[in-house]
Amino acid sequence: MCPSCELEAPCVFVERWMDFTLFKCVRCDLVFSSPSVIDPVFYESHPDYAQLERDVPLAWYHKVFCGKRFNGKKTLLDVGCATGNFLNKCRGRYSVEGMDFNRSLIEYGKREYGLMLSAASPQEYCLKKRGCFDIITCFETLEHQSDPAGFLRGISLMLERDGVLVLTVPNRPISSRLLPKEMDSPPHHFLRWNARSLRQFLRRNGFSAKIQTHHFGNWVFTFERIVALALPSARNSYRSVDVRGFSLKRLILRACRRLFIVPALLTYPIFWLFPTGGIQLFVIARRVKE
Ligand SMILES: [Zn+2]
Repeated sequence: MCPSCELEAPCVFVERWMDFTLFKCVRCDLVFSSPSVIDPVFYESHPDYAQLERDVPLAWYHKVFCGKRFNGKKTLLDVGCATGNFLNKCRGRYSVEGMDFNRSLIEYGKREYGLMLSAASPQEYCLKKRGCFDIITCFETLEHQSDPAGFLRGISLMLERDGVLVLTVPNRPISSRLLPKEMDSPPHHFLRWNARSLRQFLRRNGFSAKIQTHHFGNWVFTFERIVALALPSARNSYRSVDVRGFSLKRLILRACRRLFIVPALLTYPIFWLFPTGGIQLFVIARRVKE
């Protein structure tokens, strides 16, 4: 059954991956895994996620969000907040809260930043936080969900009437080519979205979505992944460059990353020829008025 349509819509086989089978819903175009069960222990023990405990820099979509003005909006909840380093940057402008199912990251964020963070899901949190938030952000989290419809209903209940949902997910036409296969597959990603499946999913749950695909930051990240694919030795450099602390290698990698802006800037006009956009979809969704 498609977890977005929640109907016995016709599905076609896509591939087998480890103990999982991936299907595509013919009705909405979502690729989903069966089985799909989130295990917090997996995230708490996996080196890629445990490393987030360090002070990672903000991603391009965090910066795009910070550059936007949402008039009259005062309360912000970040779903999938990891350590809360993004919320820590937002706390001057909004009253902030965060949630993540990785308990070790939550504990780190509470200790380091003194933020109000919870190890909960929207399905649980909405029971006590109904209509409490003007803005909910959800970056690179929806693709990890086993019950996306329940997840979005929880978010919708927590938003106030004119609330705004800002989210990003990997953009399947591009991410399937550029992300390492194991990272874009279960048990990491149970869902692979494209603009069509995401728009239908949001609409079905009472949101109208504006999907943006051509931000410069999105191109820089996409371009970095293209280069990483061409140079396998550079593939893991991003993670080592992101962590705190001093080392010469880290310093050099960081400098290279800054210089990367130059070729990305020169090739940016070409990016506009890609109809599908970059490696991630950036969405601003508003509740449809009843
Ligand atoms: Zn479907």
